[in-house]
Amino acid sequence: MKKFLGFLLILAVAAVAVWSAREGGPAATEPAVPETTAEAAVPETTAEVTVPETTEPTTQPPTETVPTPPTDPEAEALRPFLNLGVCRGLDEEHTFVLFFLDDGTSNWSGEEIAAFNGLYLYPAMDFLQTQGETWGMEVNREFFTYSSDVHEGMAYSGVVSPNFQEGGAAADIPDKTAVSLGFDDGWDMYRYLQDFTGTDQVAMLFFLNKPGRSYTIRDQHRDGREELEFSVIFESYPGFSTSATSATIAHELLHLFGAEDYYDPYGDYPRRKALAESQIPDDIMLVTYYNVKDNTLSQATAFTVGWTDQVPEIMENPDWNR
Ligand SMILES: [Zn+2]
Repeated sequence: MKKFLGFLLILAVAAVAVWSAREGGPAATEPAVPETTAEAAVPETTAEVTVPETTEPTTQPPTETVPTPPTDPEAEALRPFLNLGVCRGLDEEHTFVLFFLDDGTSNWSGEEIAAFNGLYLYPAMDFLQTQGETWGMEVNREFFTYSSDVHEGMAYSGVVSPNFQEGGAAADIPDKTAVSLGFDDGWDMYRYLQDFTGTDQVAMLFFLNKPGRSYTIRDQHRDGREELEFSVIFESYPGFSTSATSATIAHELLHLFGAEDYYDPYGDYPRRKALAESQIPDDIMLVTYYNVKDNTLSQATAFTVGWTDQVPEIMENPDWNR
């Protein structure tokens, strides 16, 4: 019962977004070994993050609105991470759950969380909402927030490395957080959240109040199992006085639902990067700007997260996979 009461309190605080759209049919999900996606390494400069904003001109209207059935295997191969893990479709009903997590070297105060939300979280959500509308996404917003500041004991026992490439990605964040809240493990907590929110897909975002390189651990295997997926987002990027955290949040969230990096963090796709730089230079999966409103969400990115089934021209270029 400790668990149950704890969560009622937690959820009472509220903060996350529920997005829904027409279309149901979740595809079979998958598997296992989480993988780490690097974060948009290109921090930015640009104007100023004005607190919450609302509307904003959208960038690339879809060329086509009539979705074609997503059955073409060649087309599906172009979005290998769609419909995997627990976060399957931004076009399906889901809930975002935000954890403002303390660890051994950082913690959040209520004031800091409020400031973070105004500066970074809401603009990120606004960006996704605005971009989604362009593709006919019907977006509802609702929030669920859990914070160490309010929920005594919620913490990561240990230190979350600010550089997953050096310290390893903290794949145990959901488990450790869950245990600190009285659950058995991350899955136990996840199932609870599903029941509580009434949505199958719960996207978990863990925020750390210190500089670091954000990342997403997502499912990448098509063996039919669901893998717990989540994003780890640091308050700022190391070494930069200004932070592109809004764009980072949107970028990582999109990873959870299938989007890929275009900036070639591992040196595997130099030609894709060059293509993206020439054709979709402001795409959120290529670069993260200080002011997320300067970013765009291209048809390629919309395709990878299932907002459209129309394969964009840029992905038909042979260089896309090189
Ligand atoms: Zn990334």
